[in-house]
Amino acid sequence: RSNSTSFIGLGRMGYQMAYNLFSKQYVQADGSGSPGFVVCDAVADSARSFCSEFSQQYPGAHISIATSPEEATIASSRIITMLPSSPQVKSVYSESIIPTLRKLHMESSEYTFCIDSTTLDVVIAREVASNVERTGARIIDAPVSGGVTGAKAGTLSFLVGGTEEDFEAAKPILALMGQRIIHCGPSGAGLGAKICNNLVLGVEQVVVAEAMLLGRSLGLDPAILAAVINSSTGGCWASSVNNPVPFALPGKSPPCERDYEGGFATSLMLKDMGLASDVARQRDSPLPLGEAAKEIYAHIIQQRPDLAQKDFSSVYQYLKGEATV
Ligand code: NAD
Repeated sequence: RSNSTSFIGLGRMGYQMAYNLFSKQYVQADGSGSPGFVVCDAVADSARSFCSEFSQQYPGAHISIATSPEEATIASSRIITMLPSSPQVKSVYSESIIPTLRKLHMESSEYTFCIDSTTLDVVIAREVASNVERTGARIIDAPVSGGVTGAKAGTLSFLVGGTEEDFEAAKPILALMGQRIIHCGPSGAGLGAKICNNLVLGVEQVVVAEAMLLGRSLGLDPAILAAVINSSTGGCWASSVNNPVPFALPGKSPPCERDYEGGFATSLMLKDMGLASDVARQRDSPLPLGEAAKEIYAHIIQQRPDLAQKDFSSVYQYLKGEATV
């Protein structure tokens, strides 16, 4: 157990992160006994395909499948979770991981370290963290920025909330999946930073779509308009990397050029805007633009369900459908 890692949640992000972690740990072990790697997902096929894809490529590797988060917790002293959002984190930790840790820690003093990389509600995450710590285990929140491309390339940014000591302990593990590892403060601070960042991103993607659409109605060439914005004061990631208009970024291939496939789903952006909205309400912090952008993402999902799983830059397609010119 002490030499093993369990990865729970092999979705669009988790599968790629788990692969980087597993393959780099394997290389680091350099023939001196590959560390155990345990995968677990509610969709059994995801864990099975991870196991069959990589067991063959890495001879002597010890990949096993846990059929439940309890099994994954029993198997390893390092546990990483990458789940959709608050309800799943709450149920996986409260119903499975925490009761199992309680039993394990009663029987042995072996240390367990949990890393939750899900983007979820800060208050729920702090509650879960304090219940994990009550069992004697340690936990950090380490949500990520960089999307599926960054997960695949191992270039994610990890925004970490937890003690200095836990941050230092997590760094070598996170470095196998990402490039920038930032300590944002105590428990929940990583999530706070992630939610604020995505609030900016969610608003910016809407306004870039508005500007590109306005430019179109004025007869401007999208590539020229994008070049102007990207080299001027309006420049931002939503325009220079994730521009929503096909061929506005020569030499790049943003999701809009793949029919908005393979990016950050509109439904996930709505979830993150909802997290910002909830926390802003609790703290009495004003969010006029954030609320307006959240409403737009909610309308997209209601009125254009075909865009719910597409990249959130498809807000451009939604607004184009609303336009009369
Ligand atoms: P996803 O829905 O593709 O993956 C979630 C996985 O968790 C799925 O495979 C699902 O089967 C599994 N799961 C759900 N409930 C479970 C349970 N009870 N036990 C075990 N497994 C369970 O989501 P994703 O795109 O991989 O995103 C994961 C998290 O990362 C989200 O919080 C998201 O907001 C955040 N995030 C995503 C991106 C992105 O571009 N996709 C970027 C940054 C952050």
